[in-house]
Amino acid sequence: MQMDMHIHTNWTDGKNSMEEMIFEAEKLNLEEIAFTDHIRTTSSYYDDYVKSIEAVSKITEIKIRTGYEAKICDFFGNIDVAENVAKRAEVRIASVHRFPVENGLKSADTFSKEEAQNIEKELTVNAITNNSGLLFNIIGHCGGMSISKFGEFPEDYFDEIIKLCVEFDIAFEINYRYHTKYLRELNSKLTKYNPYVTFGTDAHKQEDMKIERGKQFG
Ligand SMILES: [Zn+2]
Ligand SMILES: [Zn+2]
Repeated sequence: MQMDMHIHTNWTDGKNSMEEMIFEAEKLNLEEIAFTDHIRTTSSYYDDYVKSIEAVSKITEIKIRTGYEAKICDFFGNIDVAENVAKRAEVRIASVHRFPVENGLKSADTFSKEEAQNIEKELTVNAITNNSGLLFNIIGHCGGMSISKFGEFPEDYFDEIIKLCVEFDIAFEINYRYHTKYLRELNSKLTKYNPYVTFGTDAHKQEDMKIERGKQFG
């Protein structure tokens, strides 16, 4: 399946419009995409966002899914999205972004590599195990903050999280922005544990959607 289930647009911090991202997806012969802009509990744009997706769906053959990316707020597994928004979205990604520690949001590089990896794993594990299934159904760019700041996320942490995805019916996202160096390892782990899997580029502009598709996963 030629898909991209993680795309940002100029509705939040992406550079291009929905129409421009669809145009790129058509050039790449994608069959299915999801618009997954950043959401917060306080966001008020989602009604218009859903309407806009309905409108642009009419101009393309590509199946377009309604989605969002929400951040994991704390170590209790709270997710920064409102229930009424969650009920309207199919592709519901929860991701670790900045770390909620000491009454603030801290970048991963405020910590040592090991500390950052542990914090990121704990935030992810707690979100999955406290999840009701409504606020998210995909764990986004697992280990991504540690990978982007330190180049690594421990393999046994991936194992632990993938097993929890299976247990709690959460899809594991292969994210082409953060997981490039782990594609081979993740491929064998995902084959071994067999969770639901989604694929996304995390594109913030048209050029980001151009990746080698279907090489690692048939
Ligand atoms: Zn993200
Ligand atoms: Zn994203």
